[in-house]
Amino acid sequence: MRLRNGGWSRQARKLRPLPKTVMPTQDELLSGWLRRLATANYCDLVDLLAHVGLDYRYAVSLDFGLEAGTVEKIALAARVTPELVQSLTFPALNDTEAALTALFPFQACPNCTMRSLALKHWRRAWAFDCEICGAMLTPTLPKLGKAVLSQKLLQRARTGSVLLEQAVMQNSIRQIRRIMRSVTFTMALKNVRGDPASALQSFDPDIRFFCLAAIAVAQKRPLLKAALFATGIDDFATVALLRSYQKDDRLLLTVERIGRQIENRRRASTSNTIERS
Ligand SMILES: [Zn+2]
Repeated sequence: MRLRNGGWSRQARKLRPLPKTVMPTQDELLSGWLRRLATANYCDLVDLLAHVGLDYRYAVSLDFGLEAGTVEKIALAARVTPELVQSLTFPALNDTEAALTALFPFQACPNCTMRSLALKHWRRAWAFDCEICGAMLTPTLPKLGKAVLSQKLLQRARTGSVLLEQAVMQNSIRQIRRIMRSVTFTMALKNVRGDPASALQSFDPDIRFFCLAAIAVAQKRPLLKAALFATGIDDFATVALLRSYQKDDRLLLTVERIGRQIENRRRASTSNTIERS
């Protein structure tokens, strides 16, 4: 611990500072900065963590909070202030934010990665474009990054990501519930298992972008959209609908009613066409 007179505690003073120091960039994540620091000092992250007395297995959790003693050791080894080290970790997150912040990097910026950077905002489920260079973030599994998706879908997904961020930042329970409901529904349509928060952080852009796009689509007349999905498609979609709305009987009934109306109208227009021909 750094003492009031500006010195270091006896335990930390025993640690040898690394020959070279590296200054973190804006929004840099602790693990990413430590990796750059290791490279600058001709070692790898495992060695660097061992130097400050940390097991590599804990590397994943470093970004989400550090004990004061660990902050102190890293700061001393890197020759920066403990406050700077602390600022590279995520601050305390509420439950929704935590669920929508990935423990593992699922996407990255193709440009900034070339500069060996790993930024905090890439871990957020709502991050779509890199805040530093503006490039669209791509999945960290390159095979999945090659999926060809339409521009329209990408645009909707981008809009959905903005809506998701707004809901989380405002901590709007109503909006978040509405968003998660449309994501759950989309997941069921695409036969994706798991919870909506993890689908929004999927390595597979086909899943992630469809879920984000669903958020944008469901903003306008969500019940009608759901009803449109529900008519004229197979039983699987009906099950999906039931699953999405199971906790809200009144909503489900409304969706069914709108669905029936659409179906009746569709039948009426089809029979008119047949009569005319
Ligand atoms: Zn970038």
